[in-house]
Amino acid sequence: MPPPLARPILPVSDAGTLAAAYGAASADSGLVPLTVARREPKPDDVEIAIEFCGLCHSDVHAARGEWGTQAYPLVPGHEIVGTVSRVGSGVTAFAVGDRVGVGCMVDSCRECESCLDGLEQYCENGMTGTYGSTDRRNGDAITQGGYSSSIVVDHRYVVRVPDSLDPAAVAPLLCAGVTTFSPLRHFDVEEGDVVGVVGLGGLGHMAVKLAKAMGAKVVVFTTSESKVPAALELGADEVVLSRDEDAMAAANRTIDVIIDTVAAPHDLNPLFRTLRVDGVLFQLGLPSEDMPPVNPRSLIRRRLAYAGSLIGGIAETQEMLDFCAEHGVVADIEVVGAGRLNEAYDRMVAGDVKYRFVLDTRTLQAPAKEADA
Ligand code: NAP
Ligand code: ZN
Ligand code: ZN
Repeated sequence: MPPPLARPILPVSDAGTLAAAYGAASADSGLVPLTVARREPKPDDVEIAIEFCGLCHSDVHAARGEWGTQAYPLVPGHEIVGTVSRVGSGVTAFAVGDRVGVGCMVDSCRECESCLDGLEQYCENGMTGTYGSTDRRNGDAITQGGYSSSIVVDHRYVVRVPDSLDPAAVAPLLCAGVTTFSPLRHFDVEEGDVVGVVGLGGLGHMAVKLAKAMGAKVVVFTTSESKVPAALELGADEVVLSRDEDAMAAANRTIDVIIDTVAAPHDLNPLFRTLRVDGVLFQLGLPSEDMPPVNPRSLIRRRLAYAGSLIGGIAETQEMLDFCAEHGVVADIEVVGAGRLNEAYDRMVAGDVKYRFVLDTRTLQAPAKEADA
């Protein structure tokens, strides 16, 4: 890996406060210390002192340029929990000291049919991602995410973190939680349903916990034999080794809905065979390479649906947090300091995490002054 770069000040049009951060200077730089300039809070904005930020596999895909053209430097992080440090003059929903969260988006057009339906993630004019997006509110600056000491976000894209939940373990709910909650709710999962969860990582372990809290029976499909006891401990009713053809055949026609969270290309056809008539497979993982083709015969013979789903809307994110408070659901986490972020990325790619790394932002270095950059 090349030596860490100097700490550039990232360009923003109306630089306000400097924040310490870690991010990618280029696709192959690894994560290095950076400084980001956050805008002065506008009337609708909330400034958040970030305490924790989860590490999502999407951060790895983005930081390493695996999804194609990417603006650098890039500060990843969209599982943000912190406390409100300042509010704009027009904000009444939040006050200084409130514990809040920010997930994968910080803005959208607010006018299109999707936005008006509370489906801001499907904004017809494009949602503004928490990092790597052009910021509608700040000239042509690129948004920078939560591996950082602070962030400024329009209050409409901020959610309230219930006091009863551990703030570090809540952070992953802001992406992994809502991304799995949303399709489970869309399918109206309830007691008596059988939910298959494919891939036991950050998203997968949340899918297990949420589906169990909704009353479903849960079957985990994993490639890792070592995760079988852990899956049962999480609450799974059954675990199937997805590379074992006999075990897959035994699961034929047993599942109502599959939540597939695998981060790499894989064959879906054996999974379709585990679904009952009218079953749905939601693919949530977005591998950087093409997937093997889906055989239409698998779908046609049981009137199956092959669906995708992107995170969740803002109101739905709040609903998910409140549901988690009611059911005592949080993520299983390993807290890391900034100096271990690169190791955490490698371990995530190797599948060596139970089940989500969370950055403690107190370990970020103090922001560099402009003269140091
Ligand atoms: P993760 O923690 O790394 O978990 C992915 C799991 O996939 C692994 O634990 C592993 O489970 C399984 N897997 C099997 N073969 C693999 C391989 N060759 N390489 C990597 N994983 C493999 O990742 P995550 O944070 O849960 O994210 C999962 C995927 O969802 C990523 O592609 C991410 O970008 C995407 N994502 C999508 C959305 C959305 O809105 N749709 C939101 C967030 C993330 P086993 O060991 O059990 O097989
Ligand atoms: Zn994510
Ligand atoms: Zn919109």
